[in-house]
Amino acid sequence: MDRKRINDALDRHLRAATERSSPSTSRAAAKPKPPSAAAPKPKEQLDSDSSEGGSAGGSSEADDTFWINWFCAMRGNEFFAEVDDDYIQDDFNLCGLSAQVPYYDHALDLILDLEPVQGDVFADDQNELIVASAEMLYGLIHARYILTTKGLAAMLEKFKNCDFGRCPRVSCSGQPCLPMGQSDIPRSSTVKIYCPKCEDLYYPRSKHQANTDGAYFGTTFPHIFMMTHSQLKPQKPAQQYVPRIFGFKVHKKT
Ligand SMILES: [Zn+2]
Repeated sequence: MDRKRINDALDRHLRAATERSSPSTSRAAAKPKPPSAAAPKPKEQLDSDSSEGGSAGGSSEADDTFWINWFCAMRGNEFFAEVDDDYIQDDFNLCGLSAQVPYYDHALDLILDLEPVQGDVFADDQNELIVASAEMLYGLIHARYILTTKGLAAMLEKFKNCDFGRCPRVSCSGQPCLPMGQSDIPRSSTVKIYCPKCEDLYYPRSKHQANTDGAYFGTTFPHIFMMTHSQLKPQKPAQQYVPRIFGFKVHKKT
């Protein structure tokens, strides 16, 4: 899947929705709405997708795979943990998200692999938006889930596997990092990796990961994680790199 083009489509839709000041949040509202004439989407967006496990709409060869498994296995999505169905099915956990995500009900059905309601037929560009919305909805649910006990445990496994990459700083000696966002508001900034040793942020090494929205991990996660697993908190690096010329320390200008 071409994440950037999907994201662009979602951006355009969200902008148009903001201008209308009423994003479609219910099945009843979404159904009769035309596919947002103010925001035309390139038609081939998902039609061309064939490399990462088939159509994201779950309508072709991806039918035997659960959406969440498929999504988390997609290249670039290695930072995501698989959120429990039970967590997603509890409305309490989704409070407020219906106002943020266009085609919320359809996106939720897609995530939970529920068959679309009979009679719901969408144009290609609407389907693309629902797919993009499902990704956004999953991301926003994910940001909440990874702060729960189960979510923290799932992320611990990934941390132990170094799924989030290692700190590029030499004196951090390959310290495994944690994903985080610089904002909790979607579409603000992309995901970064946080090194618990030098306590700094870095860009993920993979450009596929680097396109992921930081809000899908949130600003709080690595700090809750390190508080919860305080035994994993590394010592701050002892040595500081000292620039030298022919072995002599470079004189600091005053
Ligand atoms: Zn570091």
